[in-house]
Amino acid sequence: MPLSEFELIQRFFANSGMHRADVKLGVGDDCAVLNVPTGKELVVSIDTLVEGVHFLNDSDPKLLGHKSLAVNLSDLAAMGAEPAWATLALTLPSVDEKWLAAFCQGFSCLAATHNVQLIGGDTTRGPLNISIQAHGFVDAGAALRRDGAQLGDLIYVTGTLGDAGLALQGAGHANLSAFLQSRLDSPMPRLAEGQALVGLAHAAIDISDGLISDLGHICDASGVGATLHVEDLPCSQDVRTYIKANDDWSLPLSAGDDYELCITVPPERQREVEQLAMGFECGLTKIGCIESDSGIRCLAANGRQLKQLSPGYEHFSSEG
Ligand code: ADP
Ligand code: MG
Repeated sequence: MPLSEFELIQRFFANSGMHRADVKLGVGDDCAVLNVPTGKELVVSIDTLVEGVHFLNDSDPKLLGHKSLAVNLSDLAAMGAEPAWATLALTLPSVDEKWLAAFCQGFSCLAATHNVQLIGGDTTRGPLNISIQAHGFVDAGAALRRDGAQLGDLIYVTGTLGDAGLALQGAGHANLSAFLQSRLDSPMPRLAEGQALVGLAHAAIDISDGLISDLGHICDASGVGATLHVEDLPCSQDVRTYIKANDDWSLPLSAGDDYELCITVPPERQREVEQLAMGFECGLTKIGCIESDSGIRCLAANGRQLKQLSPGYEHFSSEG
């Protein structure tokens, strides 16, 4: 006999193994009851993953559990927040216990890594849809925002760019490297890095839609523009090989799904930030600077400006 909705919640969601002291009441009542620590502000974000849009119907449920939480935690990372709680709204076509167990395993493993407790949710029947809301804390007034970039700020990114995009291009290829596949399937939210940058960075965003698009949001919100040096973009060996072979910078510039952080830092704090970044396992790379002219210019090593081809950046323009 299939599980009832109540049994399903009891079995898979009532006790995910994490017990935070600030959760007075978690899964099981009409609402969760929570304590926000004194002096902190609550930071909240929600993301929805829809089958056929964000993932394929044969996607590994364990990876899906990881990724659907990871993309939310990445938003908290971009605010410099410390994660605390999550709610999960699941719409399922049927009760598939094997699928649910694997999904919960992927979710819980990442949640435990970052001390996140599942505090509630909703379970309904329908086309597969995963909606997660993540909650975290920042010191009052200290959140890293998109609208804080200032003239002269240096622009940095964590990790490497374009890996997830390259994995997507090669999706289904047997020889796709495990590294690229994991960059697409199991992004690691840069939470420690985001928190460490509070008080140092003027602005931050996570790169979910591609560097140009997301840095564009910082620029628009802050009323500034930017120049990037494409040779400085941090890229894995796989992505470098692709760029060389195709003379095409679109992967690190405009492919999405990398979930790295893009931040801006005042130049007088360059040394401090670079010293701090020596402790970042993922690295932190300076890629450009904030300017007054609106728009984003991409310069090649020879100083030439890359021609912007809608929607991506594809090749060099002839004029210097
Ligand atoms: P109600 O009908 O009062 O909204 P539900 O039957 O939907 O209550 O949920 C019962 C309890 O189980 C609530 O505490 C809710 O937050 C929790 N819950 C339901 N679905 C999930 C889920 N997918 N993940 C986590 N908690 C869930
Ligand atoms: Mg409900």
